[in-house]
Amino acid sequence: MTECGFNTALLHSAASDDPQGATLTPIYQCSAFQHKNAEELEQIFANRKPGFSYTRINNPTVQAFERRMTQLEGGVTSVACASGMGALTISLMNLLQSGDEVVAAAGLYGGTVELFNMLEAFGIHTHYVLRNTPGDFEKQITDRTRVLFAETIGNPRLDVTDIHGVADVAHRHGVPLIIDNTVATAYLVQPLKLGADIVVNSSSKYINGNSDAISGVITCASRFHWDAEHYPGMKPFAKFGNMAYAVKLRNTFFPAMGACLSPQNAFLNNLGLETLGLRMERQCANALALAHCLDGMDGITVNYPGLPTSAYYDLAQRQFQGGFGAIITLRTGSRARAFQILDALTLPSIVSNIGDTKTLVIHPASTIAVHLDQAEQQAAGVYEDMIRISVGIEDIEDLTRDFQRAVKGAEPYE
Ligand SMILES: *Cc1c(COP(=O)(O)O)cnc(C)c1O
Repeated sequence: MTECGFNTALLHSAASDDPQGATLTPIYQCSAFQHKNAEELEQIFANRKPGFSYTRINNPTVQAFERRMTQLEGGVTSVACASGMGALTISLMNLLQSGDEVVAAAGLYGGTVELFNMLEAFGIHTHYVLRNTPGDFEKQITDRTRVLFAETIGNPRLDVTDIHGVADVAHRHGVPLIIDNTVATAYLVQPLKLGADIVVNSSSKYINGNSDAISGVITCASRFHWDAEHYPGMKPFAKFGNMAYAVKLRNTFFPAMGACLSPQNAFLNNLGLETLGLRMERQCANALALAHCLDGMDGITVNYPGLPTSAYYDLAQRQFQGGFGAIITLRTGSRARAFQILDALTLPSIVSNIGDTKTLVIHPASTIAVHLDQAEQQAAGVYEDMIRISVGIEDIEDLTRDFQRAVKGAEPYE
């Protein structure tokens, strides 16, 4: 179906193969699956026969979601997890061991920075790249580096990663690149096609779209060669060649961690995913219009990759199809003014997530980034006077009117 457009492929390439003809894969709300005889279950456990045994390992509703994500990201296989953080943890731990190092972009999601902090206790050290360029990634690589990590669009710093450039650097040094594609989604870019080896999505956000289920998903390409010297954990899977990571993930680390996706949440994701293209198209257009409207208002500085003032504008134009994402940040001059504007808005909800159909706003410094110290906050692009906006699908005139009124009504910036 590669010749189809984005929405057509999304709707038709992973059609339900339900035996009753259900148009959506139903919710298989069961913990386990029974079999005709002992031999059949033996075959399934030995991976010699397709089938299901236990929902922690896999489930038909979850598998339908995984197949849609594989198609969407242009990968070879996917593993769905209980949350985006679950997917990130598992994707990293499936290849790292004590003594290994990570090179990561600095403007990362706060939860991911916390995860890297916690991995220090297991002997895994992370070096951060302050300016998110291929050359700066290369400077941080040592002979212990085992993975490069970045977000397509950093949340909330909104720096854009040159995926092709960073993948080239990674591969020259024999390490894979993991990309968190949550903020951009495959609607804007398919990182695996630009050279990334593994892509992780917090599907709690745009993939699901309606904020009705937490989940995450790991999607793998199959080009990276896992040499046994640098990745001793891959040795037992060497016979699977470039699929070693994916086979190890599915058969060892993922079931052992137990952070599986529930069938109910997989169903909600399958439903939400069908409108990803429509929602992203509208949300990106709304975000661009809102960014232009707020840019130049008194005492407001807008950060959005779709504005020519963004340092990432050219890269974003080159790398993304159909928009620049739907997250905007504003510097307002002071924390008090940021709070005044947040409290004066009538349409957006003050909420900690992103990617809903409704517009969401937050003051990151006092909430989602509050556990980071000041240096970490700065590196993450979080400031005391900053507001983050996750733009929804509302009518744009209503959004711009509400934001203009709230900004004009707030104390003028001295
Ligand atoms: C939300 C988010 C995560 C974490 O996902 P959860 O589903 O909340 O666990 C990871 N990365 C990014 C970029 C996110 O926005």
